[in-house]
Amino acid sequence: MADNERSARLFRRALELIPGGVNSPVRAFRGVGGEPFFVDHAKGAHIFDVDGHDYIDYVLSWGAVILGHAHPAIVRAVQDAAERGTSFGIPNGQEVELAELVTGIMPALEMVRFVNSGTEATMSAVRLARGATGRDLILKFAGCYHGHGDSFLVQAGSGVATLGLPDSPGVPAALASLTITVPYNDLDALEQAFRSQGDRIACVIVEPVVGNAGFIPPVEGFHEGLRRITREHGALLIFDEVMTGFRVALGGAQALFGIQPDLTTIGKVVGGGMPVAAYGGRRDLMERIAPAGPIYQAGTLSGNPIGMAAGCAQLLFLRESDPYAALESRAAALVEALVGAARAAGVPAWGGALGGMWGFHFTEGPVRNFADARRADVALFRRFFWACLRRGVNLAPSAFEAAFVSLAHGDAEIERTVAVFGEAMEEATA
Ligand SMILES: *Cc1c(COP(=O)(O)O)cnc(C)c1O
Repeated sequence: MADNERSARLFRRALELIPGGVNSPVRAFRGVGGEPFFVDHAKGAHIFDVDGHDYIDYVLSWGAVILGHAHPAIVRAVQDAAERGTSFGIPNGQEVELAELVTGIMPALEMVRFVNSGTEATMSAVRLARGATGRDLILKFAGCYHGHGDSFLVQAGSGVATLGLPDSPGVPAALASLTITVPYNDLDALEQAFRSQGDRIACVIVEPVVGNAGFIPPVEGFHEGLRRITREHGALLIFDEVMTGFRVALGGAQALFGIQPDLTTIGKVVGGGMPVAAYGGRRDLMERIAPAGPIYQAGTLSGNPIGMAAGCAQLLFLRESDPYAALESRAAALVEALVGAARAAGVPAWGGALGGMWGFHFTEGPVRNFADARRADVALFRRFFWACLRRGVNLAPSAFEAAFVSLAHGDAEIERTVAVFGEAMEEATA
């Protein structure tokens, strides 16, 4: 019996029934070749697959599970909430509690509306920006991923980049033509776009630290420039903090860089591993959302009590423990070990960490935009990924994704991972 027999059997069944065998493309391992493993259960920093393997996990539900898998505070909150009913379609008190927590932690969110996925949050924020400004164009940066909404599948990161897909079929050209794309960290290109069409641009949407083209931090002054240029032209600035919110710092990238966006989208960490996301921002803008105002957005399961309870438990824990310096020192140790091992093996590598988010590219740094990221050695990444996985370290199965650490990644996990990085690099470069 092969040692991945159960996963292989599940994947064959899944392929018959679910496109590509998965419910989200990157999970299918096409970015690294081969087949995915199937999870049996997870605890703390570890994932256990259906064939009994134990992996130290750096995917962490794409960063959502910042306390570690199955953290007792989250499990208890979910169990208590479930016993009181899973969904009502009627207001519940937990919605108000999570709204108070979120707006307290991120003051630029004067009001907030909860939805069920980051995609819903970004789509809704853009609708609001268009409705409020009366303009149709939006501007995004190449390699940034803002969910799978039609307007965002133009030079998108994450799975779109992993699979090397052209802009998606099914997105009308007329709609795609309303999305302007410029390189990340390039204020000259941004100025130029605004000089030619500035009075038609409703908003700029940005990953304030890129995670979906691999890890790319903003250069000095980028966000200040973004804020100034959008303000000069009457366009709204949307920080898409679905990944970075409560992840790079408690108050997200906007706290880290001292920027006040007009609108913000959050997801991932805010739901404690449940399907929760939100958009929020200036009160005068948010009051244009129905039923307070005319811009429509709704959701049957939005604000459902289990998601709200999990989110409250996670944010309360983070607010009390403020773990971000500790998370960053662990993440930085991993980056240092990885880059050091690569250099020792004679291959270029570059990486970085902010709070509990980190990443690397097999190329000479610095990586400042998607074009830089695409110069990385993807074949080396694939060999390195498999060499790590075989030794019990689970990285995202794509060169175009960030990595994460949780509070459950202790000294033992970090030391083990550093050792694995050394061995895996030797194998990948042999
Ligand atoms: C994950 C992500 C999204 C999409 O969120 P989903 O919950 O997958 O729809 C949007 N923006 C960013 C920056 C993300 O990382």
